Order: sequence, then C-alpha cells, then structure tokens
Amino acid sequence: SIGFINGKYVALDEKAVPIEERGHQFGDGVYEVIRYYNGEGFMLEEHLERLEKSAEAIRIDLEGGIDSIRTIIEEGVKKAAIPDCSVYLQITRGAAERNHLFPKDVPPSVSMTIKPMAPFSKEMLNNGVSVITHPDERWANCYIKSLNLLPNILAKQAAAEKHAYEAILYKDGKVTECSSSTIFIVLNDTVITTPLSKQILPGITRMAVKEICEKAAIRFEEREYTTEELFSADEVFLTSTTSEVLPVTHIDDRKVAEGTPGNLTTLLMELFKAKTGQ
Ligand code: PLP
Repeated sequence: SIGFINGKYVALDEKAVPIEERGHQFGDGVYEVIRYYNGEGFMLEEHLERLEKSAEAIRIDLEGGIDSIRTIIEEGVKKAAIPDCSVYLQITRGAAERNHLFPKDVPPSVSMTIKPMAPFSKEMLNNGVSVITHPDERWANCYIKSLNLLPNILAKQAAAEKHAYEAILYKDGKVTECSSSTIFIVLNDTVITTPLSKQILPGITRMAVKEICEKAAIRFEEREYTTEELFSADEVFLTSTTSEVLPVTHIDDRKVAEGTPGNLTTLLMELFKAKTGQ
C-alpha cells in the first residue's frame, strides 16, 4: 500500500495532514474510489468525469484540471506496482485558518491511497448477503461524492450491528440506494433501479450493469419503487466499485424469494466479471 499527498508519496501512517485542513475540519471535499484489475483502471474515465462534476458542484477549481488527476492516479498505480488494487482519491478545499468561508488563494489538496484488493469471499458471492432497511437521512445533493458521510456511516454501522452487510436506504416509502452501493431489484425478468437524480450517487458500476443489460437484451428499467416492491422482488442485488455485483438474499431477516441468489443476478455477476477482464 502507498499514500500520496500534494505531490509527495508517503507511508499510510505518516503525519502528513495539517490540523487546519478543510477536509479534516469540515469534510470540505470530494472523492473517488477506482478499481484496477490486472493493471487497468476499470471505467477510469467515467470515474474522472464524476470527480470533475463533484468538484464543480462544490466549487473546487482543479489546477491542471482532471488530466492532472489522471496523471497522479496512473503514476501512483505504476509506483505501487499492485495490479489488483483500489485507489482512493480525495480533493479538498485545502489548508487554511478555520473559517466556513472559502479561503482565498489556497490550492486544493489532493491525496490518494492505493491498496491491494483481494477477490471477494466465495461464501458471500455464492450465498448472497443480508442487508437491513434504514431511513435515508442524508441531504438533498447525494449526487455529489462528498466527504460528508455521517448518515452513511451511521446506517452501515446499524447494519453491521445486525450482522448485515449493507443498509438499503428509503425516503418517503421509496428506495433510494445503499449506504455505499447502488441497489437493484428484479421483477418479472426486468432489472429495476432508482432513476438518477440529485438524491442518489450516479454509480459507475450501475452504469456498467446498464450497459451489460442493453448488450445482453435484459430488460432494464429506471424507475422509483417502494419498500413493498423491494420485499416482494424476485431477486435483489447491490453494486459498487469494491462490492462489484453482489446478491442480496435476506432483508431485515426476511428471505428474498427462496433466499438464494437469483438467475439474472448470477448471469449479471458473470457478465460483469467478463467486462472487468477477469
Ligand atoms: N452509492 C453510494 C452512496 C456510494 O457511496 C457508492 C460507492 O461508494 C455507490 C452508490 C456505488 O458507486 P460506484 O459503483 O461508482 O462505486
């Protein structure tokens, strides 16, 4: 594993961040997590585009633009020499005397960690995971991949304390997404997921699944759905950069259908694996 901050490679436990860093004091920044498979950044350009949009949304100007970030990532991965890794890349509004207002003439901070990724546990892939439902208590701009993750942290911790892997979030009776992944249901051989809006993060893995469905002529529908529909679904699965495509077989201690991964989910897992070159 290696770390990087503002032009310098550091060890992960090295003291490298000033106390008055806005990421540290305010969570004033944005981030990305990118998966490398066999030395290749999976959908790297899509991640960079989303990062650019997140930075723009909170009005952080990237000196050198997104190209400078691509260079930092690619040089880092080369230096780390870990072909199967996850890259965490964070941009904050920089270090300045604590004040809510934007600091003047302070450059953004760019930091990164690169860590090896082990393949997912066979047990989770074969049996699926248990999840809980939890109210979505986040703000109105969840399309921004912001460092402010308190509601997500609290929801995921609540899940872990019930021996569950994730928390499915709902607002006004409708499913939004999970604390750190996108959620899908299958009803009548149609893959259904919440439409993109300011209420959810536009998942890169979601985009990959949509492309896969279009190519494989699997019906794919983007529409809102209720928690009742979630509980009556034929199949449920979640996706993220680090979880890939993962079957959900139990929700709040209730079985999804027979309580085993569904056929379409299994097919999508295989097609996704192929898309990553594994
Ligand atoms: N939704 C939230 C809230 C997330 O934090 C994440 C990823 O961490 C996702 C969805 C999945 O996004 P992606 O597939 O780009 O990893």
